[in-house]
Amino acid sequence: MSAQQQDQYEYGNFIADEEIKPASRRFTSYNPTTGKVWGSFADSTASEVGQAVDAAHAAFKGPWGALSPTRRGRLLMAWGAKIAAEADRIAALETGQNGKLFAEMRAQLRVAEDWLVYFGGLADKVEGSVIPLDRTSVLNYTLREPYGVIAIIVPWNSPTFLTVMGVAPALAAGNTVVIKPSEVTSASAIELARLAVEVGIPPGVVNVVTGLREAGEALVGHPKVRKINFTGGDRGGRAIASAAGQRLISSVLELGGKSPNIVFADADLDRAEAGVLAGIFAAAGQTCVAGSRAYIQRPVYEEMVERLRRRAAAIRIGDPMDAETQMGPIATQAQLAKDEAMVKKAVAEGAEILHGGERLRLDPFPEGYFFSPTIIHRLSPANSLLREEVFGPVLAVIPFDDEEEVIAAANGTDFGLASGVWTRDLRRAHVMARRIEAGTVWINTYRAMAFNSPFGGYKDSGIGRQNGQEAIYQYLQTKSVWVELSDEVQDPFVIRAGR
Ligand code: NAD
Repeated sequence: MSAQQQDQYEYGNFIADEEIKPASRRFTSYNPTTGKVWGSFADSTASEVGQAVDAAHAAFKGPWGALSPTRRGRLLMAWGAKIAAEADRIAALETGQNGKLFAEMRAQLRVAEDWLVYFGGLADKVEGSVIPLDRTSVLNYTLREPYGVIAIIVPWNSPTFLTVMGVAPALAAGNTVVIKPSEVTSASAIELARLAVEVGIPPGVVNVVTGLREAGEALVGHPKVRKINFTGGDRGGRAIASAAGQRLISSVLELGGKSPNIVFADADLDRAEAGVLAGIFAAAGQTCVAGSRAYIQRPVYEEMVERLRRRAAAIRIGDPMDAETQMGPIATQAQLAKDEAMVKKAVAEGAEILHGGERLRLDPFPEGYFFSPTIIHRLSPANSLLREEVFGPVLAVIPFDDEEEVIAAANGTDFGLASGVWTRDLRRAHVMARRIEAGTVWINTYRAMAFNSPFGGYKDSGIGRQNGQEAIYQYLQTKSVWVELSDEVQDPFVIRAGR
């Protein structure tokens, strides 16, 4: 199906086991490829958000809490298989809303199963411990217990993938969730919740409330929400951390980036070229790990920049449903305007456009939100493009001379999400891995991710980790149980020191 043939959709909230279509407040969603209306969603009020939280709380206190971890895990695995089986249908909905390549959205839906199988498998491997106290008459052990209702708030760029990255460990740990998807891409979360009930996950375990920022705020502020998983921009992250702080609850924050992709002169330049291109243009730059700053060592700078320019000029831009397309549109008009404005600002600050830098009016999508793959060069170290996240297909290229210089430049932003290093020198690769301030360092690869490898940000790119074993412990709290085994009556006024 091409982007032009899509129907208009109408969705409601998914609470417990039904989709509730409110007659009152709704908001409109647009297809970025055509610029036309895609459908509409519930613009949830605080009271509708409350209904979802109540359903999640009831499921936590009821059927979900009563299930053994093994049974919970099996249900998550079954859900994963179901999502993978429906990948084509749901991916088309996502592409219709965010304009990202259908092939990428489908791959993310398929791979979501791996996350649910991994965390489903971890559900019955969470163990407490017995602590050998000095006070030998006491048996002291720990229990790992879920928090209750977890809020999952996600952005639009990888809707299912990022939702499942939060939901899988939260549910495996025994919590229930209320998901507030991005207002740009709300459909797939509702489809996922429906499939959860279909595979036998008890109603109320997975709920979805759609809406604008206010719906997210109502969710974060709800007294029965005990923890937050937020993926989005640093501005939203700060607001959520503050709101959570006021309520004395904690949050896992996965925020933005300004990731450096560093090419040394000794690198395999063919592979480096492919890695730099994939890092910034593969998802039209709309990925938190976009390698938006390419630092290239001076002896190969001219050659690499020319290679990148040639490849950028040849990118096939168009309908994201078409398997031949390499880059689709920008997800929203607001993001398109931001891309344009940030390029203009960089130029006003003295940089030059090497390629692109403008909105494209494509036939047959003149109203689509297309932006050309853009390469900017000759930036002064103070240029805003080296510090601020664009979240679009805009690459800054910067020459460097040596390791010390590039380490200082790479670390010269408030962000610290990801980074890439291209070199054949083993010593240098590991030194760079140690000295770059980022949660992920890719050596001779880029944009790779796995369910069992921790992912998260240093500095302003976030707090906490997704993926890997430590992710599940973020959704568990530790209880220390003390059992006095001696039947001796203790003198209430004798202070018992540790020893
Ligand atoms: P956003 O921060 O505008 O919105 C994300 C979600 O949060 C949406 O559902 C939105 O409605 C909600 N929201 C925003 N402010 C809120 C508030 N104060 N209280 C409650 N909810 C609120 O982000 P976006 O524009 O949708 O996505 C792009 C951003 O996400 C980029 O900065 C990108 O780097 C980041 N991102 C990070 C990761 C990661 O894993 N680190 C992954 C993908 C995207």
